Amino acid sequence: MTINVIIAGFKGRMGSTAVEMVKQDQELQVAALLDPFAEEKEADGIPVFTNKESMQGISADVWVDFTTPQVAYENTRFAIENGFAPVVGTTGFTQEQITELSALSAEKNIGGLIAPNFAIGAILLMEFAAKASKYFPDLEIIELHHDKKKDAPSGTAVKTAELINQVRQPKKQGAADESETLAGARGAEFAGFRIHSVRLPGLVAHQEVIFGAAGEGLTLRHDSYDRSSFMSGVNLGIKEVVKRNQLVYGLEHLL
Ligand code: NAP
Repeated sequence: MTINVIIAGFKGRMGSTAVEMVKQDQELQVAALLDPFAEEKEADGIPVFTNKESMQGISADVWVDFTTPQVAYENTRFAIENGFAPVVGTTGFTQEQITELSALSAEKNIGGLIAPNFAIGAILLMEFAAKASKYFPDLEIIELHHDKKKDAPSGTAVKTAELINQVRQPKKQGAADESETLAGARGAEFAGFRIHSVRLPGLVAHQEVIFGAAGEGLTLRHDSYDRSSFMSGVNLGIKEVVKRNQLVYGLEHLL
């Protein structure tokens, strides 16, 4: 059975890569495309829409979303309410929004996925970091992305921090009397440890978790050198959500 897929944000860096991935998989088909600034009415025979409301009633199974943090929540709500199982890569969701969307999906009996990172190596890094934090409670997260990224810290860094926080003994790091002579020098605080966001041209998506203990250190690092690194995860997400009946947060729940 062919899975029909809507792609929201199809003109963006991730959205356009997702269109190519879907086109190359014979089990998948692009049903429609959405971007508010698209001028064309169709692309390669696929209908193009500029607002989601006019997509009601389209025959599609899955809504892939790589848009912006400002619209992704409303898009995901819309997808669930209209029977499209969401596969969302857009970052910047709050915990409350994820809980609410998960409850809505259960009510509507529809599967879904919000994944701050679709790269398998990044999922492993998060898992390894959480495990290490049990033994190395002193750590800092450094996430590095291209300079067009709109939100900071990255969704991956937040998810990593949340997973670490479930395992790590609560602790405020650094000297009790430390102070910043330049605001922000110590990064953002999350449960007593710090997250630093680097934005530079040339980068794609990278993350380090650095651990320190008496006389030793441990560094975990993942690099996405190319957006193709996310596509096997998006493909898996599309094929899994159609079999499920509730939205989950994190690709690891579908692996
Ligand atoms: P991007 O190149 O800026 O693409 C976003 C696209 O969405 C743009 O073409 C934008 O159009 C469009 N858009 C804006 N509002 C929209 C709306 N209401 N409906 C439909 N489309 C809309 O950004 P990107 O690098 O592809 O990243 C997109 C998102 O994916 C970001 O949140 C990023 O953090 C995330 N991301 C996730 C993963 C993951 O593995 N989960 C990996 C990489 C990136 P205009 O430019 O014309 O406004």
